Amino acid sequence: MNRRLFMTQAALGASALVNADASPLFRSADTRKLGIALVGLGTYSTVQLGPALQHTERCRLAGIVTGTPAKAQEWMAKYNIPKENVYNYQTFDRIADNPNIDIVYVVLPNSMHAEYVIRAAKAGKHVICEKPMGLNVGECEQMVQACKKAGVKLSVGYRLYFEPHHLEVRRLAQSQELGTVKLMETALGFSMANPNSWRLNKQMGGGGAIMDLGVYAIQGARRTIGEDPIAVTAQGFVRDKTIFKDIYESMFFQMEFPGGALSNSTTTYTSYVDRLHATTGHEWFGLQPSFNATGAKGDSSKGKIDLATPPFQQIRQMDAFAATIINNTDPVASAAEGIKDLHIIDAIVRSADTGRRIEIDWKRV
Ligand code: NAD
Repeated sequence: MNRRLFMTQAALGASALVNADASPLFRSADTRKLGIALVGLGTYSTVQLGPALQHTERCRLAGIVTGTPAKAQEWMAKYNIPKENVYNYQTFDRIADNPNIDIVYVVLPNSMHAEYVIRAAKAGKHVICEKPMGLNVGECEQMVQACKKAGVKLSVGYRLYFEPHHLEVRRLAQSQELGTVKLMETALGFSMANPNSWRLNKQMGGGGAIMDLGVYAIQGARRTIGEDPIAVTAQGFVRDKTIFKDIYESMFFQMEFPGGALSNSTTTYTSYVDRLHATTGHEWFGLQPSFNATGAKGDSSKGKIDLATPPFQQIRQMDAFAATIINNTDPVASAAEGIKDLHIIDAIVRSADTGRRIEIDWKRV
């Protein structure tokens, strides 16, 4: 197969999977744009979600929840948000009375996800929760119960479930076009040495890089292979004990998949690393950068994987969730997917803590 042909097929394959993975945006005659309120106006809301919501077709930035009055003023002016759609953490529950807000998007430190997802559900709003879904499986199950009771939909902010390069590597693996994937390497890390950041605080972040970035490395392997790991082994390291007091600074972990494939992954707060690599008997394919919010680039032993991407990955993610509400279908980036990742993270941390291989029995979890 020549390089150009491969690229064309890759593009076609990716768009097919984009449609398969995301609910159709306009299945019903209902062409409303649902109102989203962002809770927490930190880096991710400011740099990615607010701007992405200027390009969405099925939803729009309608409201904000912030504890900082100056940020409220800035966002109201920048995005034309009316005063009645602006809340702080004390007035948040009044969002129940606001018909212009359909979806609450929780973009707070990890330890606050459960509280705000549950409060949003009680207010009768559909919810998107940033990753990791919660600090542990128990918290996530409470979130699911609250949403079920309120009759609202819940999704995790897994933007890569809609990213063309990631959909293409999944297609390549699962179609076995380049052979059966036997080994994978995934890695995501950045330098995070600010001891004042909630990310380094175990109570707020939940456990450092593995909680923050580990979900991507786990998903890169399990979603490409298309199976869930049945056992993990992990090694945790702390080189700078003055900064990383009760969390691992770096982790390496290996996952065993039921079909025989193996993966080896890295998450770290020491340095920048961002890649996905899959090998079959004689071929290979991968992405580098891979998991970051911008700039995924793909290559393979048969040629480049070079796909057009929207200006923000989150456009498709948020539009797909809005479409599931309008069409009354199930979210692709579901709570079940969020809970699955927390089960795997729990096994990884237990393995690093004990030095043992930990089996995951999916029938019992
Ligand atoms: P951030 O620290 O930049 O922002 C956190 C926001 O929460 C700030 O506006 C802060 O004022 C507010 N906040 C409210 N109460 C707080 C408290 N008690 N302590 C600290 N902050 C408080 O963080 P971020 O990078 O925007 O991350 C927010 C969430 O989004 C996290 O769950 C993170 O994992 C997730 N995230 C996801 C992606 C992605 O690509 N999907 C990328 C970055 C972050």
